[in-house]
Amino acid sequence: MTVNTATIGYPRIGRNREWKKAIEAYWKQETTEAELHNQLHELYVNQLRIQKDKGIDFVSVGDFSYYDHMLDTAVMFNIIPARFKKQNLSALDTYYAMARGNKEAEACEMTKWFNTNYHYIVPEFTDVTPALNENRPLAYWQKAKDELALNGKPLLIGPATFILLGKGFKQEEVSSLFAQLTPLYIQVIKELHEAGAEWIQIDEPIFVTNKTEGYWKDVEAFYQRISEEVPGANLIIQTYFEALDNYQSVVNLPVNAFGLDFVHDERKNSEAIKAHGFPKGKKLFAGVIDGRNVWKSNLIEKAALVSELQKLVGKEEVIVQPSSTLLHVPVTVETEQELPADIRAGLSFAEEKLTELELLKDLLKGDSEAVKAHQQEIEAFSKVANRVHAKTRAELEQIDDQALSRASVAERQRLQKEKFDLPLLPTTTIGSLPQTAEVRSKRLKWKQGQLTNEQYEAFIKEETKRWIEIQEEIGIDVLVHGEFERTDMVEFFGERLGGMLTTKNGWVQSYGSRCVRPPVVYGDVYLVEPMTVKEIVYAQSLTEKVVKGMLTGPITILNWSFPRTDISKYESMNQIALAIRKEVKALEEAGVHMIQVDEPALREGLPIRAEKQAAYLNATVEAFRLATTGVEDTTQIHTHMCYSKFDDMIDTISALDADVISIEASRSHGNIISSFEQYSYDKEIGLGIYDIHSPRIPSFEEMTNNLDRALRVLNPAQFWVNPDCGLKTRNEKQVIDALTQMVNVTKKYREKL
Ligand code: GLN
Ligand code: ZN
Repeated sequence: MTVNTATIGYPRIGRNREWKKAIEAYWKQETTEAELHNQLHELYVNQLRIQKDKGIDFVSVGDFSYYDHMLDTAVMFNIIPARFKKQNLSALDTYYAMARGNKEAEACEMTKWFNTNYHYIVPEFTDVTPALNENRPLAYWQKAKDELALNGKPLLIGPATFILLGKGFKQEEVSSLFAQLTPLYIQVIKELHEAGAEWIQIDEPIFVTNKTEGYWKDVEAFYQRISEEVPGANLIIQTYFEALDNYQSVVNLPVNAFGLDFVHDERKNSEAIKAHGFPKGKKLFAGVIDGRNVWKSNLIEKAALVSELQKLVGKEEVIVQPSSTLLHVPVTVETEQELPADIRAGLSFAEEKLTELELLKDLLKGDSEAVKAHQQEIEAFSKVANRVHAKTRAELEQIDDQALSRASVAERQRLQKEKFDLPLLPTTTIGSLPQTAEVRSKRLKWKQGQLTNEQYEAFIKEETKRWIEIQEEIGIDVLVHGEFERTDMVEFFGERLGGMLTTKNGWVQSYGSRCVRPPVVYGDVYLVEPMTVKEIVYAQSLTEKVVKGMLTGPITILNWSFPRTDISKYESMNQIALAIRKEVKALEEAGVHMIQVDEPALREGLPIRAEKQAAYLNATVEAFRLATTGVEDTTQIHTHMCYSKFDDMIDTISALDADVISIEASRSHGNIISSFEQYSYDKEIGLGIYDIHSPRIPSFEEMTNNLDRALRVLNPAQFWVNPDCGLKTRNEKQVIDALTQMVNVTKKYREKL
């Protein structure tokens, strides 16, 4: 008998990011709304066609989006804040205004989707009247039917996930939100059922967290109502990224199927099935192919897992699928012809994962012939020569506690104050300076071979020199070289470190139309040769002032890459840390004695499950210290973090033992400062005093106020003045004006102290 296959979501962006290009063209008013609809329709149908042609039995439909699926859900249910409603824009422009903001209204908040680097728009439930604006899943289902005769599996974000990831309500209002949304869900599901949708997928990833605690009655009541009102509809409750928080409660819900992750659950889901049984006659949509990594699956092992599940829940009841939507992996390996063949053989992106599902199906039917080539490719990849770098492993063995500690903070501060002799409230920036059209076009020409290495390097030097002069002119105390040689803070290192590779077209959606191209860690990571010394030493040679060296830290490099899965993430993180430690040392030896190691992605990697968080935080502290403690006590280590929730992290931040930290703060100044209120933070710190994301230059008073607020909590002797991160996205004039203002504010302020 054959086993059926399913998908639960697919990349929207197309092989060549056609999605991004279409949407951005509409934003720039280069195309009309009708043209956008046509272009996206074609992409949608195409992504379904790929899945259909690969023989997937239950293809999910309506996972497609014009921006983000949480935003889609909000708009569908009329969860549209008044500040947008009252503008009377078209439906599409209201949608994009919520996502991006406009002149009259600030955008809705955007935040990370579970432990991914995908960001969703946070539903705002303040003063809204839920209503059904459109049966979106039905429209997408119908398109699939009309265009491809495909009876797809429409997808909805479930109410628990939708509400509990939202904001603008009090705890005691949750029940009422469930009650208001229930009839709307009923209508959507009823219409889908009546139209002939065979299965309906309700995504409730929130069930892998403990966030439903206290609201379980509402969850039960909701699913109970649906089962009474639309008794014939086949509902799948779909979860992913972790094991269920409370297996028994979930599988008792009155639906027909459950979708569980059997890759990232550390066997907890299958153990729960073993211990508590699986409801009779219900289907198990088993996520067995990793939807988050980029590696080929060992299908022999996967088949064994499926057989085990079949034994537990019944042979007919198991459907195999990826562990999550494939939205978080690149589209296809096929566009990566430039990679070495033996490494490429080990890779599997979205299209290839569909093929794996088909092969798995064959294998479960007993046809092992088809799988042979696949398994051989995995075998070939496992033998790639530099996957094991013995020297790195030996060196890591040698690292002990001694190697990870420096003199006390007080002692370092004393030494560094003497050495650098900076004024009170020293001014600096976070690293990058405007990447103008010219910078980008030169880089492109160089990559395409139209500029020689020498010409390109000469241009980078010129730009660095120009900006050293500008920074001196403005009167900034600690200068930066500007990062003109870097496209992206992680990609730059991914291209240069041993054991990592970058792809040509391996894009994944990060937020809105923005896509990122994470490097891939395919082997042990090591330093091949110094990566940043030349540029920074050059910048330092141009000025008497201190130029801060600029590196990306091991936690961020790993969290923004695709990790390998044959060794632990923490092991890879330490290997990267060792490489950065050598880079830091090389900078120090070349005379760079103030070095910033950026870690904006520290919080991002925090595991979903509370019980795993301490191990993660310990590992990050170890890796950061490994990267940064190899220097003299007189060398000043800086780090930088972007805005995130900090109140529960100050201990970790302090344990990193960086001499100075800068934090992006202006958009939530109050929050961050109060996190430090309860804590006697003994290191130096700079909280961004103006928002770089807006082209507006804040007034003298505004910046002074921000500074004032920070200094009510923090000691001026430990405070640095800097803007938020992201100067590279602004134009030259904006940056010069804003930094000049910042320096003037600081000078004035010093007079008061
Ligand atoms: N040094 C980097 C920059 O300024 C930091 C980027 C970030 O905060 N994500 O561009
Ligand atoms: Zn930042």
